Amino acid sequence: MAEKRDYYEILGVNKNATEEEIKKAYRAKAKQYHPDLNPGDKNAEAMFKQVNEAYEVLSDKEKRARYDRFGHAGVDPNFAGNQGGGFDFDFGDFGGFGDLGDIFSSFFGGSFGGGNRRRDPNAPRRGGDTSANVSISFEEAAKGTTKNVTTTRVESCPTCGGTGAKKGSSPKTCPNCKGQGHVRISQRTPFGFMQTTRTCDQCMGKGRVIDDPCTTCSGAGRVRTTKTISVNIPAGIDDGEILNVRGQGDAGVNSGPPGDLHITVEVQPHPIFKREGYDVWCEIPITFAQASLGDEIMVPTLDGFVSYSIHPGTQPGDTFKLRNKGIPHISGRGRGDQYVRVTIEVPRKLTEKQKELLREFDKTASDKNYIKRKSFLDKLKDLTLF
Ligand SMILES: [Zn+2]
Ligand SMILES: [Zn+2]
Repeated sequence: MAEKRDYYEILGVNKNATEEEIKKAYRAKAKQYHPDLNPGDKNAEAMFKQVNEAYEVLSDKEKRARYDRFGHAGVDPNFAGNQGGGFDFDFGDFGGFGDLGDIFSSFFGGSFGGGNRRRDPNAPRRGGDTSANVSISFEEAAKGTTKNVTTTRVESCPTCGGTGAKKGSSPKTCPNCKGQGHVRISQRTPFGFMQTTRTCDQCMGKGRVIDDPCTTCSGAGRVRTTKTISVNIPAGIDDGEILNVRGQGDAGVNSGPPGDLHITVEVQPHPIFKREGYDVWCEIPITFAQASLGDEIMVPTLDGFVSYSIHPGTQPGDTFKLRNKGIPHISGRGRGDQYVRVTIEVPRKLTEKQKELLREFDKTASDKNYIKRKSFLDKLKDLTLF
């Protein structure tokens, strides 16, 4: 690296120069060496860089103090520990100007910092995600099903094939920017003429223009369409769960991948079954006689009826389990159980004959028939309530 010149010397000011003097000197030197005013002059370009570098340091109180104390080592961006960008100039784009960008910004009213990277309008972009709803029955959720789902999404225009140009024509290179997507503009500033780049406003940075736009998509190349697609819904899905269908969202831009379709699944309630996790619950009312005598009952399950022996003396609320008769796990491995809760319905609207039989029965009943009742009465006897 060549010996660096003194910043004060570059700007032609003395070490005690005021801020105003430094600024004035800088303006004069920047104008003198500006590349636009010295086309092809490598020497002027090198000088312009030096002038800017010197001003960047001397116009900043902190950097100037460091420079005064430590020389170039105090402010050289190549030294470890120093902040700020290097002096990597590119006259077409102010990306490398570092702090200097701010100074120019105040004159141009635009943004020149390297942090304001333009988004390339021709870069591939993933399509957006879309959403839809589907309603299925309890059994369909338990067994899995295929459903037609209607979704609205953005697709490549079928008329123009996504080009945006009318059938028979095609987009052409933008005459304004010659296909570059950006244009160079010279602006008069207090430092002289500065050249910057701006996104071409004729093609919006795409580099291509459409003279004769497609009538279907008005030149956008994309249209919003309503599509009905067939979707596999896996066994075990639960109410409110969201199914992600890859690649069925909006089409990507510039050959980017499509987005996904998120389907919210609504599972309709079942008249008999209730779901708890992967288990199925149901409640079966039996008669007083069935509960007393025991009986064989037919229990509905997701796989059809299963016979089950109610043992004699079954009490209200007794629950039994049918193993592996629940909902299949959505992972495909194993399934839940079915729980059956027994309720006993007390007979209503008895005929005279029935009443007679029951009274007859009751006369024969003993404590052995009613364990709970006996125990309750025993406790009552020992209780001092009044
Ligand atoms: Zn079109
Ligand atoms: Zn253009």
